[in-house]
Amino acid sequence: MARRARPVRVLVDMDGVLADFESGLLQGFRRRFPGDPHVPLEQRRGFLAREQYRALRPDLADKVASVYEAPGFFLDLEPIPGALEALREMNAMDDTEVFICTSPLLKYHHCVSEKYRWVERNLGPQFVERIILTRDKTVVSGDLLIDDKDTIQGLEETPTWEHILFTCCHNQHLALPPTRRRLLSWSDNWREIIDSKRTTVQQE
Ligand SMILES: [Mg+2]
Repeated sequence: MARRARPVRVLVDMDGVLADFESGLLQGFRRRFPGDPHVPLEQRRGFLAREQYRALRPDLADKVASVYEAPGFFLDLEPIPGALEALREMNAMDDTEVFICTSPLLKYHHCVSEKYRWVERNLGPQFVERIILTRDKTVVSGDLLIDDKDTIQGLEETPTWEHILFTCCHNQHLALPPTRRRLLSWSDNWREIIDSKRTTVQQE
């Protein structure tokens, strides 16, 4: 008889995976600074928008940051297509534990409370209990971390999770080593990735 050894624990990042940070940022930037140049999403490169805007023109770094630091920015982000449905389905799966693992801005004043409100509004109060706020995801234990940041480092050199790179405008052109896996979108086969982490132990 085979039985599952333990549930698969999935850590799901928020910005760029559940909430459409990049679209919200671009829209907010163009609305607030209509006379300034912007970076179209298809030209985004690198995780930090601020650094690409700085390279475009130094004064744009603070301007773009002022958009995501403003009250209401995180609360009003649109969900990534399919994300809410996928998370609800994942949470309802047997032997699967879902957590939302997100790193707030250092300027946390609006960001932290708005992330909680976003989750409650879009996913419901049962997911508020599943929020992990941390600036260091390597110290959180899990089997999978679905995250759009290309390189995730921290104090723990060998995190327990496998990082699945969630495709986003800023990382879509990166060539990954063959050992690394991507999730192209929430239409991609996330169920298969979770199942690949299921271990079974054989019993008499
Ligand atoms: Mg992210």
